[in-house]
Amino acid sequence: MAKLWTEPVTTALRADGLRVADLDTSATPGFLGGKQLGKSMLPERGEVLSVLQEKLFAHGRTGGNRRVLLILQGMDTAGKGGIVRHVIGSVDPQGVDHASFGVPTEEERAHDFLWRIRKRLPAAGQLGVFDRSHYEDVLVVRVHGLVPQSEWEQRYDRINAFEKEVADSGTTIVKVAMFVSLDEQKRRLRARLERPDKYWKFNPADITERAFWPEYQKAYQAVLDRTNTDYAPWYVLPADQKWYSRLAVTELLIDALTGLNLDWPGANFDVAEQLRLLDQS
Ligand code: ADP
Repeated sequence: MAKLWTEPVTTALRADGLRVADLDTSATPGFLGGKQLGKSMLPERGEVLSVLQEKLFAHGRTGGNRRVLLILQGMDTAGKGGIVRHVIGSVDPQGVDHASFGVPTEEERAHDFLWRIRKRLPAAGQLGVFDRSHYEDVLVVRVHGLVPQSEWEQRYDRINAFEKEVADSGTTIVKVAMFVSLDEQKRRLRARLERPDKYWKFNPADITERAFWPEYQKAYQAVLDRTNTDYAPWYVLPADQKWYSRLAVTELLIDALTGLNLDWPGANFDVAEQLRLLDQS
């Protein structure tokens, strides 16, 4: 088959030196095929992902310690839900631990910002998915001044130290920042308002948030500049084209899981003996 990627998605989407304000959100970095091909590849790549995830799960069931954590960040309508449904949806749900982080509850606010995050870290063998995350505490919190600057300024270092600890404990962290253009967001919000089956996804606050776009871009830039580490790298995903977002995140997860080099756990019993006993039973 012809070569479909000019470079691995892990390098095509790397955040190093990237300027959020200059990003072409309609681009499909690294991918040579168009929409039709990209869309048609998803089921087959999802199957590859599913087998790798099952290996991770099997590894966890047999005493292994490894985990993978996908952190999804993005403005409203960026497509985080679509990733969960179409990418994570291709693997066995018993091996997935999905956590979404909305406005903190009173109890959560009474604790350190990482308190609620720690509680949802994936267990051994699990593919964890954070739909929003501790990064909200330097994004929406920074943009709206929900805590003083002296407090959120310290969070970048705290986040790095936290992620280092998580990575050192056996978790491969994959961070994806999804970006749509302001125009594409308008189209997606309009679609929600034009379809009764999408009203439930609409939040009037999404419209007021649009006025803060430049501030969000600045806050995202600071996140990429200050928390893009070797042990927890950021991938910047142009997300105007949903098929590309889904294919790219599938490939990022395939890469992360392949990197674990897991084999199927061996039998801790005598296979021939068990076959003999089965035949006799
Ligand atoms: P979504 O919009 O992703 O479907 P929700 O409606 O549950 O999910 O709410 C997400 C909202 O919670 C977003 O507006 C987000 O900015 C906000 N949020 C998440 N974390 C925090 C936080 N730490 N502080 C304040 N607001 C937060």
